[in-house]
Amino acid sequence: MPSWSGRADRISPQRGERRGTIGDVVVRNTYDSSVPACCICFAPAERLTLCEACANAARKVPDMVPEQILMEQPGDRNACLVDAWGRIYRLGTITPVGRNATGCGIAIHQGSVSRKHATLEFEDAGTVYFRDLGSTNGSVVANRSVRDSIELVTGDLLFVGSVGFYFVSPVPALASSKLSVGTVSANAVAETPADFGADFENTDIKEPAELDLSTIEATGGGGGFVCIEGRDVQVSMVQLELLQLLMKRMAADRGRPVAVRGYVHSSEILAAVSWDTAHPSDNHVKQLVRRLRRSLARSGRDNLIESQQGLGYRLSVVPRV
Ligand SMILES: [Zn+2]
Repeated sequence: MPSWSGRADRISPQRGERRGTIGDVVVRNTYDSSVPACCICFAPAERLTLCEACANAARKVPDMVPEQILMEQPGDRNACLVDAWGRIYRLGTITPVGRNATGCGIAIHQGSVSRKHATLEFEDAGTVYFRDLGSTNGSVVANRSVRDSIELVTGDLLFVGSVGFYFVSPVPALASSKLSVGTVSANAVAETPADFGADFENTDIKEPAELDLSTIEATGGGGGFVCIEGRDVQVSMVQLELLQLLMKRMAADRGRPVAVRGYVHSSEILAAVSWDTAHPSDNHVKQLVRRLRRSLARSGRDNLIESQQGLGYRLSVVPRV
């Protein structure tokens, strides 16, 4: 049997039976450092931070894909939600949750979720409350329907509409010492690698190079120019808008870990650029990125836009300011 080290002294007796309701546990798998432990029940975690059983318990919508959940800006509190794919969403003092992107919360693009569904709020004492904002399909925390607000205890399984998450505090440290930043982004973790604890190995990731990159909008609309190291290439209006979005994000994310820095999710691109079609889709985003890549390549610089499943698109360089 594996042996786990950790404190289990915050079991909440009044909330009834829940799987693995254990608080203040530093998840450390002490028998095999290559297999992380489930942050809920400590079985081996096949899904990043969750075991298969805990992951399945959080999964009510069978055809949902991880890209439908997006953390717009990870918070700075030592508590998080964990989704059915084991991805971590670190909370801030107030974290809005809903179908609408607010710029600072968790956006869930799923039909059962209301535009402004709920918030997670830290009180001064460090307790965290889940507050339903009068959502259409309601919220459930630890098998209880929540009409207004309820205090969360680590290990609570909650459903925002039909979309399940675990509340976990403190943020679980992945025990694996083998995990590299590359592995994490390949698994589409919506979190900064710094949160994976001191064991985290930060390997093979170089700071992106700086590049002279600026845009000029043509007067009267119709597009503009991108100036790359002194060479101008002409681009259409939507290409210009996309590039400006990517440049802005890369600049705003200065100081964030390289593995997650500068990404713009395709749902944000869908919302931000002026499409010439009434119903733009992910496919339109892909085609637009392809066209912009081709345009930028005319400057003699290839591969200026990277993509990563689950994270979106970003510049492979940092625009020099
Ligand atoms: Zn588990």
